[in-house]
Amino acid sequence: MRLLFLSISILLLAGSGFSQTSSSAKGGNYTQEAKKLKDHPAIQSAFEEIERLNPQTIEELILLNEIPAPPFGESKRGEKYQELLQAAGGVTVWKDSIGNILALRKGTEGKRTIALDGHLDTVFPKETDVSVKRRGDTLFAPGIGDNTRGLMVVLTVLRALEKAKIQTKDNILFVASVGEEGNGDLRGVKYLVDRGDVDLHGWISIDVSGVGLVANRGTGSLRYKVTVSGPGGHSWGDFGLANPHHALGQMIHAFSDAASQFTSSATSKTTFNVGKIGGGTSVNSIPFESWMEVDMRSEEDHNLSSMDSIFKSSIQQALQEYNDNRNTGPALTLQLDQIGFRPSGMTPEGSSLVQRSKAALDAFGQRPRLGIMSGNANWLMYRSIPAVTIGWGGQSDKAHSLDEWWMDDHGTLAIKPALLTLVAESGIKD
Ligand SMILES: [Zn+2]
Repeated sequence: MRLLFLSISILLLAGSGFSQTSSSAKGGNYTQEAKKLKDHPAIQSAFEEIERLNPQTIEELILLNEIPAPPFGESKRGEKYQELLQAAGGVTVWKDSIGNILALRKGTEGKRTIALDGHLDTVFPKETDVSVKRRGDTLFAPGIGDNTRGLMVVLTVLRALEKAKIQTKDNILFVASVGEEGNGDLRGVKYLVDRGDVDLHGWISIDVSGVGLVANRGTGSLRYKVTVSGPGGHSWGDFGLANPHHALGQMIHAFSDAASQFTSSATSKTTFNVGKIGGGTSVNSIPFESWMEVDMRSEEDHNLSSMDSIFKSSIQQALQEYNDNRNTGPALTLQLDQIGFRPSGMTPEGSSLVQRSKAALDAFGQRPRLGIMSGNANWLMYRSIPAVTIGWGGQSDKAHSLDEWWMDDHGTLAIKPALLTLVAESGIKD
């Protein structure tokens, strides 16, 4: 039996305390700071530019969305985005070794770097029709909101800063990241933060629908692929050999029972899901392989750790029982591969980035609310770098489905507070 158990508990427990500090608003009054900054002539001119650009922002949203960016196939969309960043001016643009497209806009002091991020990848396989259909003022296409709209918010902020000649004290890094979704497993942001070319001190992801949410907490998740293998054979002639599908069924049952007991009384929302199963060659063959992919999530690391133990022990035990009761032939073997890990995390509510994100929304009459989500920001939080995820604006729904849509209902009302937050956190040159 081959068991590949990866210990993650140490990883899960690491990463507390925020070491980086940023300048705080005078007297800690972020509301006043945001209102004052909003009235700054250069910021006003940036806002005018965002409005003026809007038809172009929408046209390029369509253009970008129609370049497929399936998991692990983001490079074409990345190339186009790189061109657009380059054309916006004022930045040094490059593609890093993992495929992230980066644009650095130098600050006057340049001691810190604040990132503004959208992700290039979608959840859709490469054969998916990603062409955009317009019905009235609504755009229908897989990925149109998540996250092509996020990419357009990032680009528009850069264009507006350039047009208004706004100089910030800190550097700003504009990021179009790869591998945010699913089995991409945050590979873009993990590479950028852990091994990338730039040290980061703050991170704003544009990766949630609408406007108003400031996600300062990240849901953690753990994903595994479980493969059960045996000799396989003829359903009639080899009857009695251990059957991997039958074993997997028992393993799912055992896990689901034990996990349900835990989640029903967990200290915070904790979930589990067998999302994919497969294997087998024909209805009259004993399969030689049966596999499943499992996702577990929690708002808190300790619950995720418990789920991890429950998962491993329940499937192991169920397989052992199955093997003990087999009639003939060799025992089935188990291979367990971790296919995803995103730690849960939090940027403290009192941090300047969270306060400024809220104050910027407030300055536009939006009602800010703190919340939780799962995405690139998780990795920053895990590495003790302040991070938030905020909205891409307009109205949208059905993300991750073929029916996804986005409507430009005052969409610029998300771009302006994003710019305001970024400039407040980076400091404007007087
Ligand atoms: Zn997304």
